[in-house]
This record gives sequence, structure tokens and C-alpha cells, in this order.
Amino acid sequence: MVGDPPAFLKNFPRFQWYREEAMAGRLRLPPYEKTAEGDVIVYPGEIFCRIPHCEKGVTPISRTTNLRHHLVNVHREKCTPRPGGLLTQEEKAQAMAWFNSLRSSAGEDNGYVDEGQATSW
Ligand SMILES: [Zn+2]
Repeated sequence: MVGDPPAFLKNFPRFQWYREEAMAGRLRLPPYEKTAEGDVIVYPGEIFCRIPHCEKGVTPISRTTNLRHHLVNVHREKCTPRPGGLLTQEEKAQAMAWFNSLRSSAGEDNGYVDEGQATSW
């Protein structure tokens, strides 16, 4: 069983899709972006490693925090933990925009309709 996603993603269908597609090996994960400081950018809710050919690209990591540790310990990337406390609206919006940007490697979304835009937070 995979750990719970952050609360703001629990009812976000795109997150379930992300988890299922990635575990099925059908998700095309974009390469990591980095900050000006060289830190890998990990969005809240991410549970798959985006380094090419990593086994954690199809096997979920229980929590985003652990994904950050994985990047540091396994891939020797720089990845600053986000400060504790609640996620800001901006962080949530950025994470949801990222999940919405993902595409299946099958080239289509199986009729999936994005529902993230109309929700009020
Ligand atoms: Zn990895």
C-alpha cells in the first residue's frame, strides 16, 4: 500500500491517474527542472523518481519527502527539503499544474477529462 498523498491531492483524479499510469510504466515523466541554485525541483505529491531508468520510476516511493531523500542519497542530486508547515496555495497550484501537464506514453489519456481547473480551494 502506498502512503497517503497530501490532503489537497486526495480528491484530485489526476493524481490517481499519475500513480496508476506510472506503476503501469505508461507515464512519460518529464526530466527534472532545477532552481538557479541547482536544486532539483520536486512538486508536493510526487512519488516517482524522474531520473531515467530508475526503478523508482515505476515503483512508488511512499512519500514526497522520501523521494527527496532518494534523489540525494541514490542520485547524488541536490534537493533542498521544503520548509515544514502547510503548503501554500501557490505550491498546490504549481503541483496540480504539473500533474495536469503529464501525458501518457500511449499518446492519449484514455478519454480522461481534467477536472482540476474548476475546483475551488
Ligand atoms: Zn531514482
